[in-house]
Amino acid sequence: MDCCAPSNNTEAIKTECPSCGEKGKNVQLITLKSLLKSSAIEIIEPENSYVFCSNPACSIVYFSGNYSQTFVENDIKVQVYQKNQSTDVPVCYCFDWTRERLLQSVGSDPKPAEQIKSHVQAGRCGCEVNNPQGACCLGNVNVFLRGLKEV
Ligand SMILES: [Zn+2]
Repeated sequence: MDCCAPSNNTEAIKTECPSCGEKGKNVQLITLKSLLKSSAIEIIEPENSYVFCSNPACSIVYFSGNYSQTFVENDIKVQVYQKNQSTDVPVCYCFDWTRERLLQSVGSDPKPAEQIKSHVQAGRCGCEVNNPQGACCLGNVNVFLRGLKEV
């Protein structure tokens, strides 16, 4: 096999999770390479596209666009916010804001969302290699904090 040959995979790339049917979000290969355990990295197919399933009720974290592969939380080095309700799970992976730490910071000044935002604006975040969803956590942080107020 020639690993340098351009991919001519013309199969339709699916973004609906093969397990729950919810539409997932495409993630970059670097996210999988950073966050999968080595046993899972050893079987990824770099010519494939990979999609993140954010449905908390579904155990699939990543699946390939042609449905040949799926990965669950156990294949990943870190706990996955969307799949794991523990208080020690990060909501913001880059700056290590766990649910617990966010809970404890309620009423603090500056607010955690403001602290995170200022780091993001300063270009300090690395969501694509830290956060399993491969994208910025701020939406999740805001939803989580809003949820706290409603309790
Ligand atoms: Zn799913």
